[in-house]
Formats: sequence, structure tokens, C-alpha cells
Amino acid sequence: MTKPFKVWRDVYQIGGADISHPLDCSVYLLDGGEIMMLIDAGAGKSFDTLVSNMEKLGLDPKKLNSILVTHAHIDHIGSLHRFQKEFNVEIIAHELDAEALEKGGEVAAEAYGVRYVPCRVDLKIQGSTQTLQVGRHKVEVIHIPGHTAGSIAAYLDIGGRRVLFGQDIHGPYYPEWGADPALAKLSLQKLIDLKADILCEGHFGIYQPASEVRSYIRQYADAL
Ligand SMILES: [Zn+2]
Ligand SMILES: [Zn+2]
Repeated sequence: MTKPFKVWRDVYQIGGADISHPLDCSVYLLDGGEIMMLIDAGAGKSFDTLVSNMEKLGLDPKKLNSILVTHAHIDHIGSLHRFQKEFNVEIIAHELDAEALEKGGEVAAEAYGVRYVPCRVDLKIQGSTQTLQVGRHKVEVIHIPGHTAGSIAAYLDIGGRRVLFGQDIHGPYYPEWGADPALAKLSLQKLIDLKADILCEGHFGIYQPASEVRSYIRQYADAL
């Protein structure tokens, strides 16, 4: 297993297949000072590891205030109910994926052999953009339908760099998992247009500088 690490300034990676559990997506943390936000929560078997990884980085888990859910697939949402119960975090997701989170519908759990425990979505993002204030950071959320109907990405400018939490850019784009490849192609172009300097991808970690971010997203857009 790899250690959790600082990506850039107040951005950390605290989970992932080789950081917290083999089934986990990449789990990122944004430290806003008095409060912190997680981006996704892993597949559900790594709750304790995610909490201890925060502590290893010198971050106080009690400052965790919200979790931004990029989409309703089990590898990103399995520990949401634990964080909600034990840290009383606010769960933020797009309204089009919120029903799956609250009712436990199609979240691809069978494919991972994990049972999903539903959670309450406290803030349902509507439409195509929303700004969130996370302590000292302003985070822009954008709707990027394609991987699922309610997929979202988020970005912020920090220390002269644009950091993009790009979600599952690599796909897969299986219609039976809620994907729409034509919409995904448009959404990936939106992500390219953001001209991010650092990409925090949904499973494959960190890409930088801007030219690498662009070519990484471009290869998947071109394949659709
Ligand atoms: Zn994923
Ligand atoms: Zn996914």
C-alpha cells in the first residue's frame, strides 16, 4: 500500500486502490481551514483507513464537514453512510444521481460484491453549475453527464494552479451502468476547456502539468 499524500497546497489524496482498499476509487480531501471536504468516499470497506489516513497527514477528521459525491457508483459511495453517521457530514450530489444514493438503486454494487447502505443527500445540485464555499476555498461544481446521468466534476484555483477533480474520465461508458457515451463526449470536452493544471482522476490518481491533463482527457474523448 502507498501512503496518503499531499497533491498540492490544501489538496490531498487519502484513498485509492493502492492507498486504502483495492475496490476504492481515488478519494481526495480539500482542507479549507476550519472545515474540510472529501471528494468521494471509497467502496465501503476502508472507512477506518480513510479516517486514519487523515490523521497520518496531520488533518483532524472532526473538521470533516461535507462529501462531494461525483456519481452514484459503489466504489465512490460505499462509506457515505458511515461518514454521515459518525461525522454528521453533509452529503452533496447532483439531483440526477441522488435517488440512487438515497434508495440504493442502480449503483453497480453487484459488480463489486458489496452491499450498498443508502444515505441521505443533504444538498442536491440542480442544473449545470454550483459554487460551494469550503472554508477559505471556493469550489466550482459542474454537471458532466455521461458516465452516469448525475455525474459531476469540481475545480478550484489554488496557489496559481487550477485543480480539477475530474471523476471517472476513463469510463467505463456502459449503458447498463447508466452511461450515455454521446453526452460523455460533450462533458469531456467541457473538462478539457477548463484548462486545469492538475487533474485528480477518479481511479488513476494525479496528472500534471496542463499538457498532460489535456492529453489524458483527450484520449478518452476521442475514443467515444
Ligand atoms: Zn469509479
Ligand atoms: Zn463510476
